[in-house]
Amino acid sequence: MELIDGNKIAAEIIAELKAEVAQIQGRKPCIALVRVGNDPASVSYVTKKEKTSQEIGLTSRIILPPVTITQDELFKIIDDLNADDGVDGILVQSPLPKGIDETAVFRRVLPEKDVDGFNTINLGKIAQDDDTGFTACTPAGIMELLRRSGVDLKGKHVVVVGRSLIVGKPVALLALQKRAGANGTVTICHSQTTNLPELVRQADVIIAAIGKAEFITGDMVKPGAVVIDVGVNRVPDASKKSGYRLVGDVNFKEVSPKVSQITPVPGGVGPMTVTMLMKNTVQAHRQRTHA
Ligand code: NAP
Repeated sequence: MELIDGNKIAAEIIAELKAEVAQIQGRKPCIALVRVGNDPASVSYVTKKEKTSQEIGLTSRIILPPVTITQDELFKIIDDLNADDGVDGILVQSPLPKGIDETAVFRRVLPEKDVDGFNTINLGKIAQDDDTGFTACTPAGIMELLRRSGVDLKGKHVVVVGRSLIVGKPVALLALQKRAGANGTVTICHSQTTNLPELVRQADVIIAAIGKAEFITGDMVKPGAVVIDVGVNRVPDASKKSGYRLVGDVNFKEVSPKVSQITPVPGGVGPMTVTMLMKNTVQAHRQRTHA
């Protein structure tokens, strides 16, 4: 069994981006990070995004509206960023407070600045095998992990467990695309799938994005399969200072001895998500300045 090391692959991409940004004459790529309120997870995600953008040499603008902001006021902030020539990418950190329609907010971001890839146009472009748009960061990170680990999906049976708009659906469409590295035969499972273990057992490549701790067990995996574990779940652990430990959607102890390659949690898909946001921002700058 070989571990797919997300930290190592993310570091490689960050080094490539750093070199690319260093070559840019004039204005460097700029990402606007909008964080509404002080949700602790959002604070930590936005801090990580800001730090990584600094490491690469991007500029960032941090906008911190209060949790009481109305949808129209948030639209105004996005409209101003859309109109601002000095901003290449806009990220609105999810989750947004109750009463704000998250999908409407994502749609408000101009497709050419939608570096999170949640705008309808960018999601649609994936279905059309059109790579001029931005791919949502976690699915893009999964494809990059596979590519850089030498996994070609051509002709493989890829079983995606989960159909969310941020992971399951877009990664299934990417695996299905008619292009080098993709061309998979894709099955998507979800909570209403009746014969899920049977389907997962047929997979050459399993992509688990469920949000249920250690859901995929050893008996559900074909020997030699490749496993991408997207899940991040906290389980109580009295031996840890924090009182919990992080586990994926895959039972690593049972599954890892059977497979050819697997991502760990943490240190697999996680580090790729922020990295792909940076990659998208550099792409946005390139497309906007060469337009
Ligand atoms: P989500 O929106 O809650 O979607 C979960 C999906 O799993 C849904 O499609 C759901 O089916 C399906 N599901 C739930 N219970 C199931 C069951 N018992 N059997 C089969 N399918 C089931 O979650 P998400 O946003 O896609 O995230 C999934 C996991 O990935 C979470 O642990 C999240 O923390 C993690 N994540 C990690 C990263 C990262 O950067 N590492 C990024 C994003 C997400 P229905 O559609 O039928 O409800």
